[in-house]
Amino acid sequence: MSDVNSAVEPQERNIKRAIGRGLLLRCPDCGKGKLLHSYLKVNETCDCCGLELHKAKADDGPAYLTILIVGHILAFGLHYSFVTYRPEPMTIVLIGLALTMSSSLLLLPRMKGLIIGFQWAKRMYGL
Ligand SMILES: [Zn+2]
Repeated sequence: MSDVNSAVEPQERNIKRAIGRGLLLRCPDCGKGKLLHSYLKVNETCDCCGLELHKAKADDGPAYLTILIVGHILAFGLHYSFVTYRPEPMTIVLIGLALTMSSSLLLLPRMKGLIIGFQWAKRMYGL
């Protein structure tokens, strides 16, 4: 009994490694070339291995993931700080705004890299 499909099916890609490289904003294949330019724009190809990165379409996924993570962390932080320290409302607003904006801007490109890495590992969009 021979396995006919094994010759046809492409080799499986390491999802964890691809996601990790995406989180570091590197090419999911080689891990050396830059994934993004101009903050959120995907490079046409990888500088090192030539992988066509422009086929990846993350759409709204990075924004959803960023909101999910930042919202959960800051909701807990808001509750904890309010119960523990009872700060002035304006203090909460200013600190909350600063933390929300900075953490969202930091996470958004990394979440895009995560999704592109996952898509590459799962061979979505012909990558
Ligand atoms: Zn590459």
